[in-house]
Amino acid sequence: MLAESYHSAIVDRIKADDFTHRSGRLTVHLAREFGFCYGVDRAVDYAYQTRQRFPDRPVFLTGEIIHNPHVNEKLRAMGIRFLSDSHEQIDQLGSDDVVILPAFGVTTATLQQLDRRGCTLVDTTCGSVLNVWKNVRRYAEGGFTSVIHGKVWHEETQATASQAVAYGGRYLVVYDRAQTTAVCDYIRGGGDRDAFLRQFGSAVSAGFDPDIDLQRIGLANQTTMLMSESLEIGDMLRAAMVERYSEASLADHYQAFDTICSATQDRQDAVVALLRERPVDLMIVIGGYNSSNTANLARICAASRPTFHVADPDCIVSATEIRHRPVGATAEVAASDWLPPQGPVTVGLTSGASTPDNLVGAAVARLSAISG
Ligand code: SF4
Repeated sequence: MLAESYHSAIVDRIKADDFTHRSGRLTVHLAREFGFCYGVDRAVDYAYQTRQRFPDRPVFLTGEIIHNPHVNEKLRAMGIRFLSDSHEQIDQLGSDDVVILPAFGVTTATLQQLDRRGCTLVDTTCGSVLNVWKNVRRYAEGGFTSVIHGKVWHEETQATASQAVAYGGRYLVVYDRAQTTAVCDYIRGGGDRDAFLRQFGSAVSAGFDPDIDLQRIGLANQTTMLMSESLEIGDMLRAAMVERYSEASLADHYQAFDTICSATQDRQDAVVALLRERPVDLMIVIGGYNSSNTANLARICAASRPTFHVADPDCIVSATEIRHRPVGATAEVAASDWLPPQGPVTVGLTSGASTPDNLVGAAVARLSAISG
């Protein structure tokens, strides 16, 4: 069933042909690592198995199992219900209900709520996310505040932050270098406590006191962030701690573990290699607009090529029109004249960890059709 839903013969052919597809004036180079990661593969597999194993019981997802609208729609079509829908409520669940937890995990509060209702739980939380949680718990137990490089609105980061609190710790979520600079400034020389708390708002744990809670910090990441940025943020925090407490006592004040997952890393490395080794005129990145790892692939591409992050192959409307979400924007826009009208054109292609191969294959087919 999985192969039927998500497999692509076109993609198999392209892989066998040195990840290259040629059709008329069009050449497409595919990144050597793209699409479904091991965590997503497993989560989707478990969801299908759950439906088959419990054919007569109501099956729910807490929300999107992964950030891809096609996959979520297929699960809906199989009768799986979504607790994130406004008419569904955890409070109404009982022991007959089966609930699938997504690849990026759920908060400890949601888990306790489901547990209290006596539901059967199918936990698809990815091992790489569990690894982050393990480190965050270690920080909490050692009296270190978890500084999480991530998006405070992302389910995985919320789940990771909840682990810190569950183990008696504190957390602070930083999104980028600018926010990290503010944290580093406070570490070095203190500052206006209230202004700091206003700046970070809901990105800190309840009762967070920067004068106390920034004395001992441990770095963690949302698994799908940009690796280069996570490393830089780690270096910035480390340097601030050295300046404040000296190199000799750094271990008492700063800890770090690399928690970017290998699948994210492989996809980012592959797209960097594609941009370096192939003469691509423009890049297309396929994946849900709320997919963090897809957005980061688009960021890498946009630094050196015109880049179009499309949610779906249908966004490639014609040679003169494409719907896409520009890097850093919050909404989809329509662009015109995005493909050179004549002459050879080379397109680079990659997809996020939650994008099935059939969408990549469909995108190649669309490109072939519209390029003439
Ligand atoms: S992106 Fe990484 S952490 Fe997330 S599901 Fe895939 S393998 Fe797991």
